[in-house]
Amino acid sequence: MNREHLRGLFSAKSARVNTNKGEEYYNSLYERCKARLEELKKLKPVNNVNIMEVLEDEGINRRDFLKWASAMTATLMLPASFTPLVAEAAEVMNRVPVIWIELQDCAGNSEALLRSDGPKVDEIILDIISLEFHETLMAAAGHQAEEQLEDAMHHFKGKYLLFVEGAIPLANGGVYGTIGASGETFEEHLHRVAKDAAAVVAVGTCATFGGVPAAAPNPTGAVGVMDIVKGKPIVNIPACPANPANMVGVILHYVLTGQIPELDSLLRPKFAFGYRIHDNCERRAHFDAGEFVEEWGDEGAKNNFCLYKVGCKGPMTFNNCSIIRYNEAVNWPIGAGHGCIGCSEPDFWDKYAYERPMADANIKAPTGGVEKTVDEFGLGLLTAAAVGIGIHAAFSAVAGKKEECEIEEGDR
Ligand code: SF4
Ligand code: SF4
Repeated sequence: MNREHLRGLFSAKSARVNTNKGEEYYNSLYERCKARLEELKKLKPVNNVNIMEVLEDEGINRRDFLKWASAMTATLMLPASFTPLVAEAAEVMNRVPVIWIELQDCAGNSEALLRSDGPKVDEIILDIISLEFHETLMAAAGHQAEEQLEDAMHHFKGKYLLFVEGAIPLANGGVYGTIGASGETFEEHLHRVAKDAAAVVAVGTCATFGGVPAAAPNPTGAVGVMDIVKGKPIVNIPACPANPANMVGVILHYVLTGQIPELDSLLRPKFAFGYRIHDNCERRAHFDAGEFVEEWGDEGAKNNFCLYKVGCKGPMTFNNCSIIRYNEAVNWPIGAGHGCIGCSEPDFWDKYAYERPMADANIKAPTGGVEKTVDEFGLGLLTAAAVGIGIHAAFSAVAGKKEECEIEEGDR
């Protein structure tokens, strides 16, 4: 294995999303989006909230709103010329009803949504889109809440986006999670509410891949939405919690185009999960230079060196947190000094979490980008062999030293 091959592991083109599909493609997409927005404008809003009025009430001016629209356009990996359309899409978000149900989870994704940024995207989400049902956030409870759900499902049959937070426990007939006065299991509940949804969006790693509830020995038999719901468009937005920018992005994309975004083989939107944490990490230069934190609190830690040797899973984790970050883009785990624990990957709790270094985790690094990883190795094989990375790390460790020349010579 020579140096170029090792470099290729981390810089393969196939690991990246194709952000330049050509003028013809974007021109035609632009026209389609324009037509879609015109159609949406003709529809009666589901609620009477006007986005500009809400923003004004919040002290957010049009300029800030357009700045947000521009950032969202970039997040969706669309050319900058789409910014006015994205802004328009946000203004007609209240034509698309959203139903949000919560199953076996900690409500972390709802929390994340409430703390989403933008210009106050939480207001945009909660006041502008028609969040027809969200039992954790709404005032109604008990039978009243059940009626509200029934009404929303009936009234918006075939039109609503269903957001699902939390895993679905299947063991022992699903007794570990029931809902409502009739004791409907989470599985039955999900089937019933998903039946007439236009599309289902699984939010957070519990809803997508089972998450923490599905960690070994998985006593409740927890699974993700895609294991239960069939015959519907499904979008997975994993991470623990999912980044609110990605949730808003999926809704905006749907409003803008009438379609769910392009997905990878794990049903994750490519605009958010098309590249690895490692590809855009601010500590990457230290990885390449072989400068690592060897133990917590050492000189390397003080100098913000790479966290790979203290267990960072950034090289095999697909997510955009290294770019969009959390908490109004103030910081993110690696910025705060802790390695990525791979929370947006299947089985992350068993395979990736904690400070377990790669060599002990027995994880195989994706070597050809997300498609190759999933399609070639399959879900069950997203494991094994830190070898490539281990070698790279070891190699990088000596890269800045005198021996480098000899090694390079030897590799040729
Ligand atoms: S901290 Fe993690 S993601 Fe960042 S360069 Fe190091 S190994 Fe890669
Ligand atoms: S850095 Fe890694 S563990 Fe942290 S939120 Fe992003 S994907 Fe999850």
